[in-house]
Amino acid sequence: MVETKLTGAEEVVWDLSDLYAGIDDPKLDDDIKLANKRAEKLSAAYRDKLASLDEEELYEAVAEYENIIEMAHRLASFVHLLWSTDTGNQEYGAILQKITEWSSQLEQQLVFFDLEWVNAPDDYAAKMIDHPVLAHYKHWMEASRRYQPHVLSEPEEKILSEKAVTGREAWTRFFSQLMGNMRYPYDGQELTQSEILAKLYVGDRDVRKGAADSVTQVLQSNLPTLTYVFNTLAAEKASDDRLRSYPTWVSSRNLSNEVSDDVVDALIEAVTSRYDIVARYYTLKRGLLGLDTLYDYDRYAPLPAAEGHYTWDKARRMVLDAYAAFHPQAVEIAEQFFDHSWIDAALKPGKRGGAYSASTIPSVHPYVFMNFTGAARDVMTLAHELGHGIHQYLSREQGMLQAHTPLTTAEMASTFGEMLVFTDMMNQESDPNVRLALLAHKIEDTFATVFRQVSMNRFEHGMHVARREEGELPSDRLGEIWIKTQQDMFIDSVTMSENYRVWWSYIPHFLHTPGYVYAYAFGELLVMALFARYRKEGDSFAPRYLDVLRAGGSDWPEKVLAPMGVDLTDPTFWQEGLGEIDIMVNQAEELVEQTS
Ligand SMILES: [Zn+2]
Repeated sequence: MVETKLTGAEEVVWDLSDLYAGIDDPKLDDDIKLANKRAEKLSAAYRDKLASLDEEELYEAVAEYENIIEMAHRLASFVHLLWSTDTGNQEYGAILQKITEWSSQLEQQLVFFDLEWVNAPDDYAAKMIDHPVLAHYKHWMEASRRYQPHVLSEPEEKILSEKAVTGREAWTRFFSQLMGNMRYPYDGQELTQSEILAKLYVGDRDVRKGAADSVTQVLQSNLPTLTYVFNTLAAEKASDDRLRSYPTWVSSRNLSNEVSDDVVDALIEAVTSRYDIVARYYTLKRGLLGLDTLYDYDRYAPLPAAEGHYTWDKARRMVLDAYAAFHPQAVEIAEQFFDHSWIDAALKPGKRGGAYSASTIPSVHPYVFMNFTGAARDVMTLAHELGHGIHQYLSREQGMLQAHTPLTTAEMASTFGEMLVFTDMMNQESDPNVRLALLAHKIEDTFATVFRQVSMNRFEHGMHVARREEGELPSDRLGEIWIKTQQDMFIDSVTMSENYRVWWSYIPHFLHTPGYVYAYAFGELLVMALFARYRKEGDSFAPRYLDVLRAGGSDWPEKVLAPMGVDLTDPTFWQEGLGEIDIMVNQAEELVEQTS
């Protein structure tokens, strides 16, 4: 067993009693019954009549619909949070499954509500959307209506959703199971995917190369199957898009992200026009590592520098200090997470990995989940999740239906929080070697969310367009699209080995959530641009920024962001964020000169 250093986070566990007293709380069953009853009542009162209600009645109906969803969400949040901290606990597993199945039943009972609103006659909908009585729900009402050209009749929707279980969902599950069961031979052992990929981050080049060879070999031997899965899901998406009248492969994703195709095109165009930043950094890194050629398996090699160890107290102070310097209200909210036990940070057997901030429901508050080991990246994770937490806390006032932002702005407050802490860390550190290591880490993180995701978007684009025009694609054709889109990004700084041609085939995002990846780049560049404004404007920036967070998902992203002077429809906007990344690479180049 690996010894873990004590951090002081061993006792940092959350108190979920603001949701329910515990797994035996009789209120759990009472709430299930009550939600069922209210859903039945809603259905009895409004089914087949929604478009005949006057504004007062419609307001009441939407408010009740929202309340029922909030009740279901309280239950779902509670069991999910509970289970996260002890996934091996069978009692937790059983109640999680029970609530999941119950929620899906409840959802089916409520689906008429959405459909009737989406399909209500245009003149009725327009009148209600503009009615002052319904002002609070305006955005939800407007945003839902955009789906009208793309929803089918209720029986058609039912058939599609039922057949999806043995269609799309079965194929993605097959892919996950296939991937999960693959073992990668390495040094006489059989490793899992995360174990073998972790070896790409070690200093010894032979280890990295050996690990990459093993990944290639295993993917290669499964390539006919993987190629078939990718083709089938691409074809499934093409037919779904055709049935639902979406003009391009990415249109449905843009619609749910609440951005126009033009804005996304401008983002992609801007990022691909600055691939020179990537090439400059990897050329610098090649020199630092003393290599003649930087291969694909060398990209994640660590720079030689000591990584610090942080206690929980130190991490908490660093993060709170950074938020305090930003705005008193930001730190006031962040402090509550520590003071009222809204964080679970302890390492425990059976606790799931990763980190998240769960918004739960507007009438309660968010909870932060993480695994604190004392590494520098854990300090960043704490800053990140508290950023989400502050955002979710402030947007509660929009209510259940409008508190959540679309994907594109969901990572705004988290990434911004990381920037605050990162800037502090850099300012406090005087050793140029450590500064360089911190900066390199930040640059590589930023590349991973901006350039890598956009290059992957280019692969997705190439794959979907080719599948629609050329029919079933051979592995070689997919490899060709992959290598081209990746080499475009690195220019001549990284050399793609012949083996790398098959590395498209293990990335789950392409299959699980087509079109998802560009949202990362969107969020990160937005924050980079906002942070540049913060540096320029100083204290007057923070109150407006907090207003943006408070607005949650109550309006279109471009309207929510307008008070920050951000114009998402201006194609040159994205260059601001890219310019900030450029500055970081300049700083790294200067630090290299100082340290050599
Ligand atoms: Zn996040």
